Amino acid sequence: MTMQMPSAPLPRGLVTPKAYSNEEIEAEAKRLQKVINQGTLWDIETCKTIAPLTLEINQLKEENDVFLIAHSYQTPDIVYGVADSVSDSYSLSKAARDAPQQTILFSSVRFMAETAKIVSPHKTVLHPSPDAGCTLSDSITAEDVRELKSRYPGVPVACYINTTAEVKAEVDVCVTSSNYLKICERLPGDRIIFVPDQLMGKHLAEHLAGKKEVINYDGECYVHATFTGEKIRSWRNRTAEQGIELQVLSHPECDADVIAESDIVGSSEVLREEALRLGSEGKSDIMLITECGTADRVRAESENDLNLIGTCVMCRYMKMTQLEDILQALREPHPDQIIELDDEIIQHAQRSLDEMFRLAE
Ligand code: SF4
Repeated sequence: MTMQMPSAPLPRGLVTPKAYSNEEIEAEAKRLQKVINQGTLWDIETCKTIAPLTLEINQLKEENDVFLIAHSYQTPDIVYGVADSVSDSYSLSKAARDAPQQTILFSSVRFMAETAKIVSPHKTVLHPSPDAGCTLSDSITAEDVRELKSRYPGVPVACYINTTAEVKAEVDVCVTSSNYLKICERLPGDRIIFVPDQLMGKHLAEHLAGKKEVINYDGECYVHATFTGEKIRSWRNRTAEQGIELQVLSHPECDADVIAESDIVGSSEVLREEALRLGSEGKSDIMLITECGTADRVRAESENDLNLIGTCVMCRYMKMTQLEDILQALREPHPDQIIELDDEIIQHAQRSLDEMFRLAE
């Protein structure tokens, strides 16, 4: 009944890392095994295999003054082996903006690297995996937003932060999984257009029922759309038969019936913090309804024995970036690994993000 663990991503032979001595590799492998803290999957031999990559990446970061940030859904070798900052997309953009380094390498999907460029336009933002998209951000274009605005003139448009820079530039305000209820409630009028996440929009409509009408879009995250309230009820019943009191933690990109079955709902950072807190209070039977990266982080960071129950779902886009891609982008980035955005798009998208900061207060 324990949660399945994904396998460790091993080098594909795309780049040849520098040669290091056996002593250096041994010491780095021991460091990696300690920080990743998942001995079964990341044993010492696996860590030795990736050690030359992490050694060279960390060396290049220092030599070239690069700040490497990684989303929570990246694999543990990236999160604990080479990242300077790890969090959700919103916090990471702020980290990118506040870092003294003039080059940011963003290990994640494309729209997040674009958001980092919007908030720090004068920095060079590297994105090692240009093909790492997202079903949610790819579900809507700027033209789709313009069409909605002409169909519902004067109705404020809010977009979830999981969108391209062009879409952010067309809307009135951006929102995140931590602040969408608060911000949408504060927008003027009795109607609101919410894009692109239909499941989050459904939850928002329930929250605003009787106050505002929500005009919803039809995008969704294929990872979080997999979970159902029915599956959670079935897990609860099975665990209850064994005397286990299950704690269910879910992400707001899930369907409303999943949210209704959950004990805690929040962004990946909130879920990580809450799982660690529950573990420290002895409530160790936890079901994490989100991408597998959150469970990896909880496993690595918990000082308590946790029983992570059920199955997680891996995002194929989030898992596209491997250590080799990061090393290649640090050595000599291809043009499509450097985020370039039109100045006007940056200015307009920045306005939507600034509006989010203002309304979230
Ligand atoms: S987990 Fe979902 S929202 Fe996040 S990048 Fe993958 S598809 Fe997009």
